[in-house]
Amino acid sequence: MRTKSINPEVTPFKNKLYSPLIKQKIKVLQINLGKRCNLACNHCHVEAGSKRTEELSPEVCQQLIELIYKFPQIQIVDLTGGAPEMNYGFKPLVETARINGKQVIVRSNLTIYFVEGFDYLPAYFAKHKIRVVASLPCYLADNVDKMRGSGVFDASIKALQWLNKLGYGQESDLILDLVYNPQLPKSENFFLAPDQVKLEQDYKRFLQDKFGIIFNNLFTITNLPVGRTKMYLERQKLYAPYLHFLESNFNPGTLGHLMCRDELSIDYLGNVYDCDFNQMMNLPAKTSDDEILTVSKLLANGSLDVISEVQTAAYCYGCTAGSGSSCGGALV
Ligand code: SF4
Ligand code: SF4
Repeated sequence: MRTKSINPEVTPFKNKLYSPLIKQKIKVLQINLGKRCNLACNHCHVEAGSKRTEELSPEVCQQLIELIYKFPQIQIVDLTGGAPEMNYGFKPLVETARINGKQVIVRSNLTIYFVEGFDYLPAYFAKHKIRVVASLPCYLADNVDKMRGSGVFDASIKALQWLNKLGYGQESDLILDLVYNPQLPKSENFFLAPDQVKLEQDYKRFLQDKFGIIFNNLFTITNLPVGRTKMYLERQKLYAPYLHFLESNFNPGTLGHLMCRDELSIDYLGNVYDCDFNQMMNLPAKTSDDEILTVSKLLANGSLDVISEVQTAAYCYGCTAGSGSSCGGALV
């Protein structure tokens, strides 16, 4: 979809809401295990890379294990990073979550399976029935390599074929989803992600015909002006125009479906946020007493449902523009 910015000013996101975004009963625990990654993509909101060293500590990992045991209301444990597989705590968290009957999602960059010491991953994922959500921002090699680095497309294709051989995309308990996000803009001719259903059909046709690859769902995700995307937009003097563009496409119909409504996002230090974007922008979740939350406080309180209101900021226009955007793709 191509749309032009129309509003001269960015309205504070809160002013767009008829009422505060009230947190619902928590169902999803998204854990950002750290910033270590074998790639350094130009749009990365985490600013991850191979030189980053921040990762989960054994103490926080143990608290998270307790949290998973203690709260049956958690349905999904969603592991992200960095490359979550490279950061401390990956296997203990997977195995704890699976023993407790949770769905486990790993947000995988696919190329990590070809790094020494990580070739066990595809078989490990299949053994534990982990849902793989893999970034493939385009089905054309040039575009992917420009965003993620030379050779990433070819490695991603080989990884997808490997997962297919293990039954991913074909067996009902081995789910393989792909993620599309638009190229970073070069001018004020901004784009929202295309229609998710139509793009999924195009991806499926192309990847199957050309590479014999099968997958379950395609998620279209908007680039939020956070992390490296924000830095890029600022360098190009496109940050404010991009926010205007997102605001001009604000869709209130997305508000009831935002991922921040029923998720807790945890950082490698054990601090709690409403979502991974707030985590990266250091906007922590707060209780009704205005206290900043940590995993240890959740354990001490004996409840996950202690946040009254989602903390919002201007980048929330990225989740609410057009058909909306979340870690699970379009919202409406
Ligand atoms: S976008 Fe994903 S794969 Fe790329 S650097 Fe960031 S964490 Fe790593
Ligand atoms: S960035 Fe998106 S998910 Fe996070 S608080 Fe804003 S609207 Fe919710």
